Parts: sequence; C-alpha cells; structure tokens
Amino acid sequence: MISLKNISKWYGKFQVLKNCSTEVNKGEVVVVCGPSGSGKSTLIKTINGLEPVQSGQIFIGETEVTSKSTNLATLRSKAGMVFQHFELFPHLTILKNLTLAQVKVLGRSEAEAKEKALSLLERVGLSDHANKLPSQLSGGQQQRVAIARALCMDPVVMLFDEPTSALDPEMVNEVLDVMVELAYEGMTMMVVTHEMGFARKVANRVIFMDAGEIIEDTSKEQFFNNPQSDRAKDFLAKII
Ligand code: ATP
Ligand code: MG
Repeated sequence: MISLKNISKWYGKFQVLKNCSTEVNKGEVVVVCGPSGSGKSTLIKTINGLEPVQSGQIFIGETEVTSKSTNLATLRSKAGMVFQHFELFPHLTILKNLTLAQVKVLGRSEAEAKEKALSLLERVGLSDHANKLPSQLSGGQQQRVAIARALCMDPVVMLFDEPTSALDPEMVNEVLDVMVELAYEGMTMMVVTHEMGFARKVANRVIFMDAGEIIEDTSKEQFFNNPQSDRAKDFLAKII
C-alpha cells in the first residue's frame, strides 16, 4: 500500500532522512517512534508529498508520490493526515470543515458531502457539534473532527503525526479510542506516537528512527521484548 524506496532528504547541508526504506501493507498499523529530531515528522510528511525528497521513490498503491506528474491534491485526499495541532479552518463551522474538500477536490455535491460529514461526525461522537466553530470545542473534540475530516475523503491510508501530544491528558483516550477503532476496522495506518499503550494494542509493526535513519523495522513483539539496537533499548528505557 505504501512503499518507501531509499529516500533521502536534506535541508541545505543537513541530511534529515538517510536512505529510508519500508513498506506498509494494506490493513497494517505501523507505529513510528524515536527521539526528538530523528526525522519522524519529516518521514511521514514525505508520504503525502508535503515534504519533497531529493532521492528515492515513494508509492501509495500504484501512484508514485515522487513523480512530478502526480496531482498532489488528489493524492492527499487518498492519504488522510492528522497532525499534532488539529489545523481545522478556524473561521468555518465543523460541518463546513468536513464538506469543503469533498466538494472542491472530489467534486461531490453539497448534499452528498453533508451526508458523509454527518455520518462521520456521528462515528466520532460529535453529531451535536456540526454547526459550531472549532474554537467552541475542546482539544480532544477538535482532534476527532480532524480525523473525521480526513475520513470524509475515503482515504486508502491514514497518516498521524503525534495526534495526542498536544492534548490535555484527560482527552488523550477519546482520540486514541477513535484510532483504535479505525485500526480494528482494517484501516491502513502509519502513526508517529509515543503512546506505547496504543502501539502495544494495535500496531502490527514498529519503526524506530534515530538521526534520520530507520534503525529498527520489526514486529511490535520483537521491538518491545527484544530490541536489537542499543539506541532502541535506550529509547525504550526512557519512555516506558
Ligand atoms: P519531534 O519528536 O520533536 O517531533 P521529529 O522526529 O518529528 O521530532 P523532524 O521534525 O522530522 O523530527 O525533524 C528532523 C530534523 O530536521 C530536526 O533536526 C529538525 O531540526 C530538522 N528540520 C525539520 N524541519 C526543518 C526545516 N524546515 N528546515 C531545516 N531543518 C529542519
Ligand atoms: Mg515530529
């Protein structure tokens, strides 16, 4: 479903991604972890073309993200992305946040888009909030809206970059619950997170990054019980 082949990226002289390769199969949940500055956000953003790479190839299904001829707007609707800060449009209602790209990018009618939006709001438990502005919702609610907004586009894969790390602790679980449910429904997911409880529960694989490199790419059992590298051992010792 997702394939990264030897991707490298530089910011000026600084190499932020070093020859990274991995595959995410359909229905797999892959958790990406590693120290701050190791390149996790950069890696995940390359997948939907938000960050260009200087070498290597990236595919989502048959579509080559790294090809100049790929339409990035269409591609981004296929790879839904949820960030740390919810990035909802602040001046638009929740409903409008959910219908806008459906109409503009997918060419759905307003009525069709609205129906889809309302069904996804129901799924994340926010049906009563359709006509509010983002600022009228809690952080956890806003993040669930962001997930629903991405799902409105019928993505083939969902990318998450620390979706709970900006939330107050009591709101973390309501967002993780939505993600766990998505995983159980078979959504293909790549998730940058330090929530190791989430990883233990639903991850099929764990990718551990350090200094721009994928150091480990292995089953969660292997990663938690028997990490191979000293860097992964150090990391696990600090966060668990
Ligand atoms: P964190 O856990 O703190 O979110 P991360 O693993 O997501 O870290 P990235 O945000 O991918 O790390 O950053 C990787 C490295 O690239 C860091 O050293 C960062 O300073 C650098 N970097 C990120 N964005 C830029 C940029 N636009 N220009 C230059 N350097 C950048
Ligand atoms: Mg990051």
